[in-house]
Amino acid sequence: MKRRTFVRSATLAAGGAVVAGTAGDLVATTRAQAQTGLRINGARINAHLAELSKFGRNPQGGVSRVAYSDADRDGRAYLMQLMRDATLAVSVDTAGNIWGKRPGSQAGLKPIVFGSHIDSVPEGGNYDGDVGTLGAVEVAQTLIEQGVTTRHPLDIVCWQNEEGGLYGSHAATDAVTAQELAGVSVSGKTIRDGIRFLGGDPTRLEESRRRTGDVTCYFELHIEQGGILDKEHLDIGIVEGIVAITRFDVTVAGLANHAGTTAMGDRHDALLSASRFVEAVNRIATATPGRQVATVGRIQAFPGAVNVIPGRVECTLEMRDLDAEKIKRLGAEIRAEAERIGKQNGTTFTFQGSSTDHVASLSDPAMRAHVAAASKALGLSTKLMPSGAGHDAQNMARIGPMGMIFIPSVGGISHSPKEFSTPKDIENGVNVLLHSVLAADRA
Ligand SMILES: [Zn+2]
Repeated sequence: MKRRTFVRSATLAAGGAVVAGTAGDLVATTRAQAQTGLRINGARINAHLAELSKFGRNPQGGVSRVAYSDADRDGRAYLMQLMRDATLAVSVDTAGNIWGKRPGSQAGLKPIVFGSHIDSVPEGGNYDGDVGTLGAVEVAQTLIEQGVTTRHPLDIVCWQNEEGGLYGSHAATDAVTAQELAGVSVSGKTIRDGIRFLGGDPTRLEESRRRTGDVTCYFELHIEQGGILDKEHLDIGIVEGIVAITRFDVTVAGLANHAGTTAMGDRHDALLSASRFVEAVNRIATATPGRQVATVGRIQAFPGAVNVIPGRVECTLEMRDLDAEKIKRLGAEIRAEAERIGKQNGTTFTFQGSSTDHVASLSDPAMRAHVAAASKALGLSTKLMPSGAGHDAQNMARIGPMGMIFIPSVGGISHSPKEFSTPKDIENGVNVLLHSVLAADRA
């Protein structure tokens, strides 16, 4: 719709809304109706994505724009230019996160924050993080062009080093330890040096920290990274929350012995038990109703020789679901089965809890409702779904209401140069983000 047409139809709609009610109601109703026809520029957001994909482009057609690399720095410079072009006030906080801010019309209101990240995994794709970050800038630019001033300030954010462990959003919502700062990122730089490289100051991280009540809410648009929306031909995923992760280091102890002289009935083969365990984990997780997942992702047999029966196996067990209690039950069932498997050939299983567990992080019901209403108004189909992958949104959920919007990933492929979302789905997602932000602003 052209701007002139939009203004006329909005005026007509507002005219039709003159009914009984308070002046405040009327203002709110008029504002809502005036905003209904707003749409982002689909061609522009897709052109910006194509431009960003040049920074760190790899021969496979994706990007290797790992945090703190030259490509990351250059991609960030491009993003900051886009923000300036949109007339946002651009700054880099002490944690190295980029902010593009626009004031609101009503004094005293806390900002609506939305954005994502633009760093990638090595040999990553062009959509993970990029869609949500450039989409956030597109939303702001659309509002500015159309002369729409929100009541709340708008803070568009690009979190630094999402792929390395959500470092930017972690620093913005929690204390960062010296040990974390000393960790080495994929770029080869420590987190501390990386923050400096991006223009932050690791000695003043506290200044970037936001606390409960500092934000009105947070939205993040992201590609699904799984194949559910694509397979079911749905437009938008309304994220229920980001799943809890529980991990164990599992050791299977048997008896190493001569592979030529030990009869089959006399063996305590740890790898045989581990193989049965891998199968059992898959069977139990599949047979339980729900959307939980369980994986044995790493396995190693010792001593690992061609002519020795494995005496010990070390492997991992990872389980994910929104419901931590369910993970507990699943874990208990898997352990009971492991014990049964061990008894079959005189081996034993031990489970050691890991330090890399994450609690589930639920989205806010009101934010979900905004995303659902925005999708419906745009004529888009939706599905309520968990996020199996981690996102900066899980850190922001610690300090305020969080909402996440998913768009389909073709074939469910992500963290790969083959990652792809269609220009139409991207346009849809950014329009849903726009109207979710506007709904939160009116609420
Ligand atoms: Zn991401």
